[in-house]
Amino acid sequence: MAILRHWVVSIADRIEKYWSDERKPILVCNGGLSVSGLQHVGRLRGEIILVEAVRRVLEDRGWKTRHILVLYTQDPWKGKDAQLKVFKDANANRYIGWRLVDVPDPYGCCDNWVEHYWMDFGPYIKDFSEDVEVYTTTDLYRMDSMKKIIGEIIDRRRSVVEVLNKFRGRNPFPDSWMPFEPLCENCKRIDSSEAIHIDLDSYRVLYRCRFCGYEGVSSMENGKLYWRLEWPAIWKALDVGFEPYGKDHATPGGSRDSCIEIAREILRFKPPFGIPYEWVGYTVKGRDLGDMGSSDFIGFTPREWLMVAEPEVLRFYFLVNEPMKRVVLSLDQIYRYVDLYDRAERIFFDVESLDNKDELLLIKESYLLSTRFNPPPRLPFQLPYLHAVLLVQVLPVEDRVEAAIQRLKSTGILNYELESWEIDKLKVRLICADNWLKLCAPDEFKVKLLEYIPEDIARNLDDRDRYLLRILLDTLSVCVWSEQGIKDAMKSLTSKLSRSDQEKLFKSLYLILFGKPYGPRIAPFLSLMSRDVILSRLKSAVEYP
Ligand SMILES: [Zn+2]
Ligand SMILES: [Zn+2]
Repeated sequence: MAILRHWVVSIADRIEKYWSDERKPILVCNGGLSVSGLQHVGRLRGEIILVEAVRRVLEDRGWKTRHILVLYTQDPWKGKDAQLKVFKDANANRYIGWRLVDVPDPYGCCDNWVEHYWMDFGPYIKDFSEDVEVYTTTDLYRMDSMKKIIGEIIDRRRSVVEVLNKFRGRNPFPDSWMPFEPLCENCKRIDSSEAIHIDLDSYRVLYRCRFCGYEGVSSMENGKLYWRLEWPAIWKALDVGFEPYGKDHATPGGSRDSCIEIAREILRFKPPFGIPYEWVGYTVKGRDLGDMGSSDFIGFTPREWLMVAEPEVLRFYFLVNEPMKRVVLSLDQIYRYVDLYDRAERIFFDVESLDNKDELLLIKESYLLSTRFNPPPRLPFQLPYLHAVLLVQVLPVEDRVEAAIQRLKSTGILNYELESWEIDKLKVRLICADNWLKLCAPDEFKVKLLEYIPEDIARNLDDRDRYLLRILLDTLSVCVWSEQGIKDAMKSLTSKLSRSDQEKLFKSLYLILFGKPYGPRIAPFLSLMSRDVILSRLKSAVEYP
């Protein structure tokens, strides 16, 4: 039987094979993003986390690598409905066709559109991948290496048209077509002008604007290449050796194929090894809102993720799922991804077993990659996310970490002294859980233990309620005060009760604890509470008045 390899390792193998004939001294791994709106976490999948993992494997094998991220800031702003909507100004459609970097910040707090939307993504990249070098296409068009490549393309424009027309079906470019899109200095559009004459020596272009009719000369630094030429030009300028790309570019005869041919036939270099990846879906309260999308403003940002969960949880999630598999993320289910990560950690440290050998390897390697080959020395103390959610609601805000440790010890969940790195982890989890409650937790996760039983609730308990609470009190008085102990005790109690008595018991239990007929899963909650508080609460309900 073939030995399964992690898909990241397979990609690294394929890259090594691809470059075996002309090994690069430094392998440039490149990602690209258009800052057309919301910079969502889906964009971390291919361009950041996949690249970082592949780099780690290659560096482990002795390669030198760089991770570059290109922001397509020179692209025109499309003025999609969702983009228009973020402006209070009803005349925002006047920015259509402007370079993204020229569009104003709808909120007025930054210099422009790009800077505003980059704010929730750029500063957080380092939490998901180290040493990412960010370039904008606005920067690139000012670089001499890029200018030289543009010169090559202009000089060979007849052949360029020939190659491109192979991919354009019944809509070919005319022989006279100029592969450059100048900026109109009158209306600021970059998508509307026709280049009439290009002077490479002065690096200026004579153009006529189809939108406003203006005819003038502008610097080529402000314009851009037709996008199917821009991509291979960037490969060459940055000497890209590996690049993941969104699945929309992957279709045969699609944009990537034409870029590869331009690279080989016109610019005469070996194009990068590429790997396609799937989009990331977004759900809210169980409803699938479709794929995350920047210009449609669907999804949430890395900043929002880091408020509620550790970065390695997302790294693991994207690494354990193959790149062409559609995955879905939801802020209201964040605890599920954290649980998956914690389980992987237990499996990695052989504390939890798994019969399926392939799955075992996939999980162990994904975990190791998610720690950047730097796992903790042993299995850390794990506080399940939903336990953290309960804890932050029942503990005082002051000295919360200390109080949490005390509580976890007194309830038997923790039975050894934590090392400082474990305390740091615990602290982060408590902060995340607290943020999640405040920002995105569904109501059913919000609990508040009442100080005492409200008079009307106590009075309204009937004899049967009191009887059921009494046998619960008897059971809990003698059980082991741990989640498992409580769970087992309650199970053996409720298994002897009729369905309606079970419902009655839980309803009155929730009422005397929270004042509502529903609440969190009871065993984890009780196990985090002081035994005395719970038993005396039951006692006062049973003994009322
Ligand atoms: Zn702003
Ligand atoms: Zn114009």
